[in-house]
Amino acid sequence: MKLPSLNILILLGAVFGVALGFYFHELGAQHQAVQSSLYVASLVGTLFIDLLKMVLIPLVFCSISVGIANLRQHQQIHRVWVTTLLFFISSMAIAIVLALLAGNYFKPGAGLHLAMFEQAMQNFQAKQLPLPEFFAQFLHGLFVNPFTALSQGNVLATVSFALILGIALVIGGDRYKSILSLLQEGLIVTMQIVGWIMCIAPLGIMALLIKLVAMQDVAMLSTLAKFVLVVIGTTLLHGVVILPLILYLFTGKTPLWFWHGAREALVTAFATSSSSATLPVTLRCTTQHLLVKPEIAGFVIPLGATINMDGTALYEAAAALFIANLVGIELSLIQQLIVFFTAMIAAMGAPGIPSAGMVTMVMVLQSVGLPAEAIAILLPIDRLLDTLRTTVNVEGDMVGSLVVQKLVVQNIT
Ligand code: ASP
Repeated sequence: MKLPSLNILILLGAVFGVALGFYFHELGAQHQAVQSSLYVASLVGTLFIDLLKMVLIPLVFCSISVGIANLRQHQQIHRVWVTTLLFFISSMAIAIVLALLAGNYFKPGAGLHLAMFEQAMQNFQAKQLPLPEFFAQFLHGLFVNPFTALSQGNVLATVSFALILGIALVIGGDRYKSILSLLQEGLIVTMQIVGWIMCIAPLGIMALLIKLVAMQDVAMLSTLAKFVLVVIGTTLLHGVVILPLILYLFTGKTPLWFWHGAREALVTAFATSSSSATLPVTLRCTTQHLLVKPEIAGFVIPLGATINMDGTALYEAAAALFIANLVGIELSLIQQLIVFFTAMIAAMGAPGIPSAGMVTMVMVLQSVGLPAEAIAILLPIDRLLDTLRTTVNVEGDMVGSLVVQKLVVQNIT
């Protein structure tokens, strides 16, 4: 009997995962069978993420340096750079504007009182993260001994070293031809391993979703229902309408075509809540299914997984307005402008790991004088919201690579 395609198996895994998760949730965590099943789900899910993380750093390193080197002439690198950064900034700006509009219109949190959450806030110590310190930390983290960065799995520092190495390879030309072909072979062999890892993706995704759904805090979800709905609604609007529209306007590609090619990565992002862990899958979908040239994808996708986070930017802004409503403060236009900028910086600085956005959100809250401890209210529901925002983060990277390819491809021979 012939097995269905990997794409179908992944979708089936996701559906079964959610269904079983609900079932276990209903049975209750005390149930012996539920405990053992969750233990197995946790093992399988973690194994899947570990495997993805295993190839992440070699992949980022090879794909960025090879990508840059293959762009060959300085002129092209410059164009790709500028177009990519402009795209990232514009799409995050649109996401934040959506969040601010929805927050002002629906005012989630307005009927609730901060006192309801006192207990949660008392037990939570927010780590101070003022903007200048955050900025200094970010800059400081950019340039690290490459061996330390590679061995510690530091994606940001690996990205910056690979960029510099790529530029050196371009400038050196023929002189460094053998290093370049070594890196090219490295990229091919790592993608081969990614292909093998994808064979267990259906199981890994199912396991991650079982655990996620079974362990949801339903009481907190219903208390914060309005906020959750506004965030989910705006994130979906951005992911299902705005990004596909941008894609269509720039490239003429339809949303269905995109979804077909991108779904493996989107489902993986949803289940893992980590753009970094999803990166190997994103790169595979972008080059193999969406047919973006490896030199463009190899540059845009890893960079995007590190700094382009539409879903996170949207969430940071939405959460700031929500907390302002809870505290009973009406944020002025200037304050909302500050939220706009800090949300963008916070999203760019958030690493692509689960709940990273919650950490950098402290900075957004502090920038307009909101209590940082209030994020304790959001922590119980964060894992759930993280699924969708990570999916949109990854979608933004893939749309970005298609748009960049369309805009600069004429110059690449
Ligand atoms: N989990 C998100 C990501 O990996 C980051 C965040 O927490 O918003 O893209």
